[in-house]
Order: sequence, then C-alpha cells, then structure tokens
Amino acid sequence: MPEHMIDLGLNFDNSYAEQLEGFYVQVKGDEAPAPKLLYLNRSLADSLGFDLDKLPADQLAAVLSGGITVKGGSSIAQAYAGHQFGHFNPQLGDGRALLLGEVIDKNRNRQDIQLKGSGATPFSRGGDGKAALAPILREYVIGEAMHLLNIPTTRALAAVATGEEVMRDEPLPGAVLARVASSHIRIGTFQFFANRKEGDKVKQLADYAIARHYPEVQTADNPYLEFLRAVAKRQALLIAKWMSIGFVHGVMNTDNVTISGETIDYGPCAFIDKYDPTAVFSSIDHQGRYAFASQADIGQWNMARLAEALLPLIDVDSEEAVRLASKTLDDFAEHYRESWLALMRAKLGLSTCEENDPVIISELFDLMEAQSIDFTLLFRGLADVLQENKSGLLNLFLEAAPFERWLATWSERLARETLPDEERIALMNGVNPLYIPRNHIVEEALQAAEKEANYAPIEKLMDVLSDPYTAREGLEEYALPPSADLAPYKTFCGT
Ligand code: AMP
Ligand code: MG
Repeated sequence: MPEHMIDLGLNFDNSYAEQLEGFYVQVKGDEAPAPKLLYLNRSLADSLGFDLDKLPADQLAAVLSGGITVKGGSSIAQAYAGHQFGHFNPQLGDGRALLLGEVIDKNRNRQDIQLKGSGATPFSRGGDGKAALAPILREYVIGEAMHLLNIPTTRALAAVATGEEVMRDEPLPGAVLARVASSHIRIGTFQFFANRKEGDKVKQLADYAIARHYPEVQTADNPYLEFLRAVAKRQALLIAKWMSIGFVHGVMNTDNVTISGETIDYGPCAFIDKYDPTAVFSSIDHQGRYAFASQADIGQWNMARLAEALLPLIDVDSEEAVRLASKTLDDFAEHYRESWLALMRAKLGLSTCEENDPVIISELFDLMEAQSIDFTLLFRGLADVLQENKSGLLNLFLEAAPFERWLATWSERLARETLPDEERIALMNGVNPLYIPRNHIVEEALQAAEKEANYAPIEKLMDVLSDPYTAREGLEEYALPPSADLAPYKTFCGT
C-alpha cells in the first residue's frame, strides 16, 4: 500500500465512479497542516462500519480532512451544473468537495461519504476549495438537528479543524466536514449533460439514479416519466416537512436539490422564529426568491428544470414529452398540499380528515402572521391547552381575543376526534418540537467556537437538540425566541 493510503476496513462499492466514467474527475484532497477531530458522529460512524477502536483520533482526523487516500475509496469530484437564483450556470461541480467513496453500511444501505472543504478541484472556478470552521460546524449542528426532527437530510459524520487559515473577508480558521448522503446526484447533475446535448449521458445517469433510488419505476411503461414523478413526490414531501418546522433552506438552486429527496447544503439556511411567510435570511437573496412561503413553488420550478433535462427520454416526440412532463409536474402542487395538510393535521392533534380542516389551519396561520407569533412556541403550546394550561400560549398574543375564538373552533373540531386526550397530547408533542436550532443561539455558539475556541456552547446546543421533543428542566432559554432588540438574522452563502 503506498504511503499516505489507509485501509479503513469499510465496505466500499463505488458504483458512481465505476459506472459513470466521464461524470467526474479524480482528485486528491489537500493535506491539512494540523488536522484535529472536533466532532465525530459515533453512531453514524459505527453504522457505516468504522472500527473506531482501531483508528486513533489523529488518523481519523487526517483521513476525514482529505489528506490521506483511503484504500478502496473513489476520491472523485462530481460534475454538475445548476440554476443559481434562476440563472443557469453550466459549469459548477464539486469545487471544494470530494467523494471519498460509497459504503454499503451495516443496514445494507449505500451511502456516499463526502468531504467538504478538502481542497481545490478542477471545478473550483478560482475558489480556494476550502471551508471555514463556523459554517462547517453550522452544517454539522443543523444537519443533525434536521435528522432528529425527522427531516430527510444528508448527515454530518465529522468536523475536522485543519489547523490552516482560510481567507474570507478576514482570515478564519479552516475546517472540513465529512458528510453522509444516500447520494449526491442533483438536478444539476442532469442539467450538466443535458446542456451539453449529451443525451446518452443523461440516459446513463437516469438509469443509474433509477437503479439506485427508484428501482420500482424500472418496470413502468415510461420509467423516465415515473422517475420524474417519483423525484417530484419526494421533493414535495421534503418541502412540506421543512414548512412544518419553520425551516428556510435559503439556497434552493437546482445544484442543491437532490434526486434522493434529502436536504443538502446548509449554507444560508435558518429557522423562522416569528411567523412570517416572506422570511428570508440569506444576505444575497435580495428578491426573496427563496422566502419561507415560496419554497413549494420553487420546488416545482426546480422539478421543471429536471423535466427539461429528461424530456428526450420521456418521449421521442418533443411535444408529447412536454405534455406528459407538464401533467406530471402539475401533480407536484397536489402532492405538496397533501403532505403539508397531513403534517399540519398531526401538529393540531387531528387524526381524522374533515373538509374544513384547511380553513382552520389557514386561520391559525393568519393569526400568527398578524401578530408575529413564534412558530415553534405556538405549535408546541397547543398541547398545553389540552392540559388546561393555556395562559402561556395566550401570552404570546398581544391581542388574545381572536386567538381564543380560534381555540374554540379547534376545540369543537377536536370534539369529533376519537383519540383520548392523553394520547393526542403525546402525539402532538412528538411532532411539535420544543427545541429547534434557534438562529441566535446557533450564532452565539459558533462565535464562541470561532473566536475563542470555546466549544462548550456548541456541545451544549447539540445536547439540547439531540432530543427536540422532550422538555427538560434548565433548558428554558433554548426554547425561547431572540429578544426583540436583536438585529434581524442574516446568513451567508459559499463560506
Ligand atoms: P454552494 O453554495 O456550497 O452550494 O456552492 C456552489 C458552488 O460553488 C459549488 O460548485 C461549490 O463547489 C462551489 N464553491 C463554493 N465555495 C467554494 C470554494 N471556497 N472554493 C471552490 N468552490 C467553491
Ligand atoms: Mg451546493
């Protein structure tokens, strides 16, 4: 084995590298000057087959920052294009990431292990290929929080400090994130080849993606149309789930939309505190393209971009292909609506469906918007009302009377439900989190890590978020919105 190669004993099976030549370039990561393992997701590492007792932390740090080649791994940067804020960029690709390889995990699932921030690649377009510590920790914390909130997502495996400074507006400590995803195939991966009129490659990629993620459509009359439908359905569900917890992705470019339906790229994302459908946090989203309430429409727009790439596969007659694809995309809104309604009903403790439910739900949102009510506290507080404790919830409202009227309507509706209250309360508390990664708390913890190398706040936060649904004594401040005098929260891309 050459020097600087390590055998991790993982069950590698690099199907992307093996089956899709021409879809990537071989790359090597940079050797970090002083790699230090900051966080390791032990249960995830274990499920992937890492033998943690055999691997000393310093070796893990070197491997997971990209400086050592892994025996059996693939070490590639994937090509992709993408619509960024509505504008097509034909040439993106992994400019600061490398796919370490695909592992068949202990549950027989195929998982990508990718390093982000491991150095420049042929796709770097003048960028340094690096990442700063705070955004890496941010992705670690929020990605894991999303997972624990039952949202499909890529997951953080490790965060490694490189011991190197990266130059942004100022020099910042550098880091690498190791993340795990069921794949990194994006809408933009299809667009890359469709744009180059490489129809055979689009087909090859579609066949690969179908086999990997949607084998059930292989036998359909029109597998590519069914593939489009299946991807759209998963994206509709994903976005509905975001909407059910107040998550704003912030950069829903087509290169950041996975075919698998997992949330990817936690750059400028944020959670809303007070309910505001127009909420935007990203410093560069001047038009509010990716605002909270626009996410489903953007999801559908993104699906149309995937459809465009697939059209020649859907039907040889281009008009027929457009007709079929459009019909399929029309279903997106319906899938989204159904998924969202199901999630909202659960949040309100409803286990049956009534025609008027959407009205009750939208009245609640209107009230929340009119009085800028904290999204998370409102939903969490509903179960308290069922336990004769409604003062906390009423206190959220400056003017409580309209909300009291809504509570009466809700209560009448609940009277037609059959579940005993006790069960309903448990179900509601299992879908309405108390602890979310509140922006101001995340920010404070990141600042402490970045500026003072003080990791205590972030560790505490991770501990709080490890169980978002169970109220625990002493953690009250983690459930609270920011004080009113705090400046509006802003997030930044590509850091
Ligand atoms: P993102 O905003 O992280 O989704 O990245 C969008 C594109 O910019 C992708 O092609 C990234 O690989 C690339 N990119 C972001 N930051 C860097 C960087 N520091 N160096 C090189 N490429 C980058
Ligand atoms: Mg991205």
